[in-house]
Amino acid sequence: MPEGLAAVQARIAQIQRFSQSQRLPAARSADSAAAVSFADALAAAGAAGAAGAAPGTGAVGKPVMPVQGVDINSLQTHSFNNVRDSGKHAGVDIFAKKGTPVVAAMSGELVEASWNGPNPMGGNRVWIKADDGTFHYYAHLDSITVKNLPKGTRVQAGQQIGTVGDSGNAKGTPPHLHFSVNWTQGGSGNGYKGENPVGNPVDYLRTGLAGMQTLPR
Ligand SMILES: [Zn+2]
Repeated sequence: MPEGLAAVQARIAQIQRFSQSQRLPAARSADSAAAVSFADALAAAGAAGAAGAAPGTGAVGKPVMPVQGVDINSLQTHSFNNVRDSGKHAGVDIFAKKGTPVVAAMSGELVEASWNGPNPMGGNRVWIKADDGTFHYYAHLDSITVKNLPKGTRVQAGQQIGTVGDSGNAKGTPPHLHFSVNWTQGGSGNGYKGENPVGNPVDYLRTGLAGMQTLPR
């Protein structure tokens, strides 16, 4: 049995024991700290699976949906690369009620979590360097949960990093998360003009980096 799979099974057993000990219905266990452990285990299993892959593919498991409660099949894949007045749209807009939790799509290191300064395009936004080597951009947040944490702080897949909003140049539009996956971290004030997309983020969310068609770096 692959080491990663054994780790996942051990974690699932741990979560089940936790849920039972807390008398949580199954659905409630998603709210518990155990869910974070589960996400860790999935990431670990992905990393173990990727160990046999060609070096440089950067595959580290499958990402999680960054907006709580959203079905991936509801995402508008065509919103990627739409041409808008401020340039090509480098991400996907994931619509949800204002205040809906935004979680890290993949474990990684916090790069930036703040208002983006005098240029308001992204508004409250977070950059995370994911463990597959890509840079994830989360913009138009209403609030930032991981605000002002030091650069390099570890963030786990599934961990809340903020809430859905309409900050920045999305002010007054239906609340949404602008999510993009990039080869580099964009300029701090450049909104999606500063993004350097790996490809369609919807494909990324479905398969992870290894399974998708990528754009040149
Ligand atoms: Zn957008």
